[in-house]
Amino acid sequence: MQLHSYRPKLAGIRFFSAPVRCPHCGDEMIAPYMSEFVEGGEIRHHWECDSCGEGTTTAIPLTTH
Ligand SMILES: [Zn+2]
Repeated sequence: MQLHSYRPKLAGIRFFSAPVRCPHCGDEMIAPYMSEFVEGGEIRHHWECDSCGEGTTTAIPLTTH
């Protein structure tokens, strides 16, 4: 049981650490300036690009259940 529930967590971490690129200029963004938990099982990251200053949002569904 414990081993089985460990796999989705690892996949989630891998997805989280994947580089996010700015949809406006393509530059890599290091860290979100704000993260929020959305009711229903989702984490939303808000980004601001260092290069062009444009903002974007990524949503990561929580599938650990
Ligand atoms: Zn940009």
